[in-house]
Amino acid sequence: METVFSFTDLRHQLINATTSLGYQQPSAVQQKAMPIILTGKYLLVIAQTGTGKIAVYTLPLLERLKHQSNHSVSPERHLLRLLILTPTCKLAEQIGASLTKFLYHLSLKHAVICGGTPITLQIDLLHQGVEIVVTTITIGRLLIDILKQSALKLNKVEMVMLDEADKILDIGFFNDIVNYLRNLPKNDKSYYFLPSFLQQLNS
Ligand code: AMP
Repeated sequence: METVFSFTDLRHQLINATTSLGYQQPSAVQQKAMPIILTGKYLLVIAQTGTGKIAVYTLPLLERLKHQSNHSVSPERHLLRLLILTPTCKLAEQIGASLTKFLYHLSLKHAVICGGTPITLQIDLLHQGVEIVVTTITIGRLLIDILKQSALKLNKVEMVMLDEADKILDIGFFNDIVNYLRNLPKNDKSYYFLPSFLQQLNS
């Protein structure tokens, strides 16, 4: 079945995912934001829960990662490319559930890193190789420190997404985000949120 998601230039595997989830057409925010995210521009989106906001950014960001899709079991073939930071574990898990559905037709790996499970077990999971990590901002800080000393390389991280950035800022993590982004390695493909952009958000 052809859906109006075709307008977004999403690869057919992702359009298939929206079709099998029963998405007949993009929601208003998806229609406006997805084409912009696909071009790799910085974007601040404000949308209510229930408007399809997780798909707004996950589908275009997966599209940007599609060429990394492979069936290898080697961790070297599944390097970390996308970090998604949230204020809460509940939201991280919701995003993880959406990624599981959207990735049905693509061979990209993801992990949700939250409190509750011993961090060493979660780090073991990361060492098996993942392209996408979803984690809370508090664990994200810890994660960077741990990963810096571990085998998992951060130098391929291309994209950082802050979901519910307003809540992350409300709970006082502004400096953490800025430090966090500064600590990520720069590479040609980086398109991190600029600190000046965050500064505006914080004012
Ligand atoms: P969210 O706002 O991301 O929490 O999405 C709320 C619900 O809407 C989730 O169950 C999504 O799977 C669903 N959803 C997202 N986009 C669409 C769409 N274009 N058409 C129908 N349902 C959608």
